[in-house]
Amino acid sequence: LPTVIIIGRPNVGKSALYNRLIRRREALVYNTPNDHVTRDIREGIGKLSDLRFRVLDSAGLEAEACSGSVLQRTAEMTGRVLARSQFALFLIDARDGLQPMDLDVGKWLRKHAPGIKTIVVMNKAESLHDGAGSLARAAGEAYLLGFGDPVPISAETGLGMVELYEVMRPLLEDYMQRVLSDEGDQDNSPTEDEESKLPLQLAIVGRPNVGKSTLLNALLQEDRVLVGPEAGLTRDSVRAQFEYQGRTIYMVDTAGWLHRTKHDRGAASLSIMQTRKNLMRAHIVALVLDAEEIAKDRRSMKHDEVVIARRAVEEGRGLVVIVNKMDLLKGKLYERVIKAVPEEIQTVIPQVTGIPVVFVSALEGKGRTAVMRQVIDTYETWCLRLSTARLNRWLRKVMSRHSWKDQAAQPKVKYFTQVKARPPTFVAFVSSKAKLSDTDLRFLTRSLKEDFNLGGIPIRIMQRSVA
Ligand code: GDP
Repeated sequence: LPTVIIIGRPNVGKSALYNRLIRRREALVYNTPNDHVTRDIREGIGKLSDLRFRVLDSAGLEAEACSGSVLQRTAEMTGRVLARSQFALFLIDARDGLQPMDLDVGKWLRKHAPGIKTIVVMNKAESLHDGAGSLARAAGEAYLLGFGDPVPISAETGLGMVELYEVMRPLLEDYMQRVLSDEGDQDNSPTEDEESKLPLQLAIVGRPNVGKSTLLNALLQEDRVLVGPEAGLTRDSVRAQFEYQGRTIYMVDTAGWLHRTKHDRGAASLSIMQTRKNLMRAHIVALVLDAEEIAKDRRSMKHDEVVIARRAVEEGRGLVVIVNKMDLLKGKLYERVIKAVPEEIQTVIPQVTGIPVVFVSALEGKGRTAVMRQVIDTYETWCLRLSTARLNRWLRKVMSRHSWKDQAAQPKVKYFTQVKARPPTFVAFVSSKAKLSDTDLRFLTRSLKEDFNLGGIPIRIMQRSVA
């Protein structure tokens, strides 16, 4: 996906434009890993009509940049980010006219990122009246920056977005064409490695008394959580952190809701609302089930467990099911549970194949390795990024494999790209008028999972039409 960075001196409205392009409040936060000074750069998927691109907001760099020499300090921090971008939206303020600092930003951009295609965007243009010629005058000044004609917009009101689209579209499309025809890997988005090294947020959820606290202790390898036979004993929200094979694992508030559950609804059921919040913060949700209950009940999951599992998947989290207390089962029963649970999970959550199931005995301290291996495997898959070049090689093969219902109306998927990881999210660009049916989408999803080994995690495919 093409990457577009928004730059400009402070206060020109970079964040406002960013928010308008991503069309929502929240944004992914990109922590530049391994940097001495870690700055937050907001990163999201920008949308302008049918255009999709990765958009970076450099506003987070401003606080530092304002003091001292803007350019030097910004240069260091933005360097990495610039290296990932192919396009820059160079924002200036239409009301202020061209400022010396704008010229500096321009000079700096030319020096440090000569390869970036820059579009000058004149923000706050809603306040200028074209009749008086002020817009033309401002545009004339902006032209002096040497990046071509400026595009007047208002990030606040949305004015000028169509014009911006018109300028960006040919540039982005041209870029996509080049990436697609290039068999090599030109995609300089962060690799799966970089992203999967960020701390892993793990939530342990489950009904009271299934052994969550015991399991947590086994994972932490120290008795920090109070465990007892009485349901809902864990009092405080547990915010533990530990290292596993050189990787930092954060435990997302897993026990806090337990406590509240006990008071709100009695200990018997999961508090779905509370858990939902935890789910959103987690990368991986470990749902703990009680093997003894399963053997007694002859079904793997109770209603609220099914609800939680489904919710985790719908929210795009990676799900790992842990069947605890296996030490209480013997012989036939043991065998039956091991066989039945994965099958049953598949029937209740058909949209994700191969959800990992781990059988453990937290009490005997067995299972740390098995659980962590599954959690990390699932996380790495969840973080995976496949390059556009690779996906399109795959697409060509897969298109011929599917028996499209109606050959004549066979939807033509022109190209295929991953717009996001965590969880992997893809866009299929389909020739206009054609539309992928649910069956087609299921076929693509299944093939993608099989061919790239993406089992066990939710993946998303969206479709867009292109001319
Ligand atoms: P939580 O409410 O889910 O946090 O459950 P706890 O960790 O407090 O465990 C509830 C009870 O189950 C305690 O008495 C534990 O000792 C017991 N328990 C936990 N894990 C196991 C296990 O693997 N095997 C057996 N037999 N008992 C377990």
